Amino acid sequence: MNLIFLGPPGAGKGTIAKMVKERLGIAHISTGDLFRQQIKDQTPLGKQVESILASGGLVDDEITNEMVRARLKEPDVKNGFILDGYPRTIAQANKLDNFSRIDTVFNFIIDEEEVIRRVSGRRVCQSTGRIYHIEFNPPKVEGVDDETGERLVQREDDKEDTIRNRLEVYRQQTYPLIDYYEKRGILRNLEIETGSEKAADIIAGMFNRFEEA
Ligand code: AMP
Repeated sequence: MNLIFLGPPGAGKGTIAKMVKERLGIAHISTGDLFRQQIKDQTPLGKQVESILASGGLVDDEITNEMVRARLKEPDVKNGFILDGYPRTIAQANKLDNFSRIDTVFNFIIDEEEVIRRVSGRRVCQSTGRIYHIEFNPPKVEGVDDETGERLVQREDDKEDTIRNRLEVYRQQTYPLIDYYEKRGILRNLEIETGSEKAADIIAGMFNRFEEA
């Protein structure tokens, strides 16, 4: 099955996608993670998009579409995929229609102030990728990774000003996709206040039932 996770930054799409990926054996494709990897490796694409990610703006549609099109050709996608953070504009959604079939779009609903609390408290260990939250999931010792002892950092685009910008970009550019997929009858709204695990249970449960039927 081919799924899209739609929703504002900080809604927990990535966390839920990782759980659903394990449960359903499908690929998890996060365009944000793909761009961050390119930046880490300092590839030409990485250098090109670095300042865009830092500001919270969107990377050019053509660059993004091409990256996703190539990723969807990789072998781990054969049983299906979760697109996390893509499409983010109507132009991207139109393009995606040309190269893939989509079964269901999950729209994660969350209060914006909650997003700001979640994202601005997020800290990461750069070498392991482990994610903490100063309030909800703190490390054992303040400011350092539980296993490696490395100092935790705040992603540039998790800073409060940038999150507010990312939310504004979301409202202007991505929000219209809710209507786009609703009109097609494949949108499912999901309130995620119940927590990531419950949301993952609901999503995985829907598709397990299809498989058993
Ligand atoms: P994310 O981790 O999904 O919030 O993405 C982090 C950043 O990567 C975004 O703020 C954008 O700068 C860029 N990005 C990720 N996905 C897209 C996309 N579909 N279109 C354009 N830019 C994207």
